[in-house]
Amino acid sequence: MVLKLVILAAGFTVLSVVFGILEKAWPSVKGQRRLRRGVKTDIAWYFWDTLLNKSIVFVAVAAVAIPIALVPAAASDTTVKEFLQHRHSFVSDQPEWLQAIELFFLFDLIGYWTHRGFHHLGLLWKYHAVHHSSTELDWLSAVRVHPVNEIGTRVIQALTLLLFGFNATLLGAYVPLLTFYAIGLHANVPWDFGPLRYVIASPVFHRWHHTSEREGLDRNFAGAFPWLDALFGTLYMPRGRQPVEFGVLGEQVPEGLWRQLLYPWRGRKPEFVAPE
Ligand SMILES: [Zn+2]
Repeated sequence: MVLKLVILAAGFTVLSVVFGILEKAWPSVKGQRRLRRGVKTDIAWYFWDTLLNKSIVFVAVAAVAIPIALVPAAASDTTVKEFLQHRHSFVSDQPEWLQAIELFFLFDLIGYWTHRGFHHLGLLWKYHAVHHSSTELDWLSAVRVHPVNEIGTRVIQALTLLLFGFNATLLGAYVPLLTFYAIGLHANVPWDFGPLRYVIASPVFHRWHHTSEREGLDRNFAGAFPWLDALFGTLYMPRGRQPVEFGVLGEQVPEGLWRQLLYPWRGRKPEFVAPE
């Protein structure tokens, strides 16, 4: 446990230094302090995510996926583990590189709609509001994710894996990659990847998703592919402008890990504000 804490602290230090340099050299919001509002809350979330949240989410996914896999596993006279590793479907018979590409697109499509669901379905919003509560946004804001938010997304993704017969080990590679990419998407930098700005999600694309400015509300739900937002009519990324106001419009989410963990059971959904 002590060794794990040391490793996590070292990881935090490395990320702080790397993003600290980038955000200082190329700030999107100029003059934002390194020890900005909510930094203590986010440090607590960082350790919560890495020490506890992953285990909670793993147990939740297993609790849903294993009973579903039990029936076909029993029917084919194998264990659940063997069934998941060796089942055959039109997907599992494909080479792994092709499965990886398909999984990438499929997960972002699922992520788009689950994310949109967390915004528009009243009960779910309160869990997602915690993630939107940073009023000064930088790389560390990525760690504010309520476990119910995470469980909801991962369970749906795991069930998709089961349904199509993807190689389960691909999920193990995909989730850490996405987690690390999400950290970069929140960074206080003005990058939009130029000609690829509508192809691959950038900090500018995702920071518009976090804005409390009315023009950007409920936009840019995709995690990796902005063209999904273009396809479904929710893209907002004006050229030459970047958001400067962040947080939840009309709703006061408290600071502090425990208060934010309990917030969905105490908070209220704000009035829906239609994008202009
Ligand atoms: Zn959101």
